[in-house]
Amino acid sequence: MFPPSTIAISRSAFAANLAFIRSQLGGARLCSVVKGNAYGHGVKPFVRMAMDAGVDYFGVYSADEAYKLMKAVDDKPDVFIMGMVEDEGLEWAVEHGVECCIHDQARLEATLGIAERLKKKVLVHIEVETGMHRSGFRLDQLPKAIARLQQASDLVEIIGLFTHFAGAESHANDGRVVDQMMHFELARNLMAHAGMEVRYAHQACSAGVMNYPRTIGDMARVGIMQYGFWSNTETWYRFSAKLGVHDDPLRRVISWSSRVMALTDVHAGGFIGYGSSCEAQGDMRIAVVPVGYAHGFDRGLSNFGRVLIRGQQARITGIVNMNAMCVDVTGIPGVQRGDPVVLIGAQDDQRITVSSFSEMSEQLNYEMLTRLPASIPRNIID
Ligand SMILES: *Cc1c(COP(=O)(O)O)cnc(C)c1O
Repeated sequence: MFPPSTIAISRSAFAANLAFIRSQLGGARLCSVVKGNAYGHGVKPFVRMAMDAGVDYFGVYSADEAYKLMKAVDDKPDVFIMGMVEDEGLEWAVEHGVECCIHDQARLEATLGIAERLKKKVLVHIEVETGMHRSGFRLDQLPKAIARLQQASDLVEIIGLFTHFAGAESHANDGRVVDQMMHFELARNLMAHAGMEVRYAHQACSAGVMNYPRTIGDMARVGIMQYGFWSNTETWYRFSAKLGVHDDPLRRVISWSSRVMALTDVHAGGFIGYGSSCEAQGDMRIAVVPVGYAHGFDRGLSNFGRVLIRGQQARITGIVNMNAMCVDVTGIPGVQRGDPVVLIGAQDDQRITVSSFSEMSEQLNYEMLTRLPASIPRNIID
């Protein structure tokens, strides 16, 4: 209702990212991954914006996320639950034609049971365990599942056969990823020999698309790149070196801002905030920003991170509090109460990227983004 900070989602940045992703996918179908509240961007505004740009397929992790997505839009897209579906969720998913991941025999039985009861075909993706050792059917478990699927062919439609790579962003994992690709191929052959038709055999996430383009096939599940981030810097360097491209084609979709709440003058020798971690070396002017760790701003940025005020960087002084932090505006003339403060994003020619933000605090982009609380309002801007 009265938010101390707001997040803006850029339509033009997303359009640029989508164009880049589509150029990499060729004609393959894009499954837009929006788990984790659309990587912190807000599932409702993000999905609306993506659908306006022609995206018609979304991947989430759990039934609960699928439910929120379906509630968020009137025109229903295709939705794929890539991970957790508890039994009540499963019933809802089958009823609403939401695609479900089948990762073990128990899930397969539960799903078929519901299909039978509801007299409705279930749409499934069979997950194959190829070396990540998280979830999915091992190759030796697959024949039993295939036999069961054949027996129940009037209850089930196999949309996909899929696996997920354990680290396609780093060349250091190359052996493991190539091994996964080989196992996936064996799984495909098992299905084919049994005469099972699969609409999409899919493996690639963002890093797969960029580093192992032959895994794109007829569909890819792309998350982080849509939001304007490379999976890691190595993936960007590899792309940049391969094509001699120096301008990053991806643009950050998110920006996060607040306002100066109060200004305080501190004399030399005074301590700022809780405890004694920050002593004023000279006379200082401090601006209070009403954002703290309760809003997803990392405490690890205490006495270290920066924000932008009046187009200049202001360093955080003292400890990031639960709901506020202090920043040094001594060298920035004319700062006033109510001035905009950029926590992530650009002001004039200065920029705070999530990446520099999270490198400073040693978090991955993924983690930093998804920690942004759902309670911060998200607005779509051009
Ligand atoms: C998160 C996720 C993706 C997307 O990964 P990105 O690195 O963000 O592109 C794809 N597939 C599965 C199964 C996932 O969990």
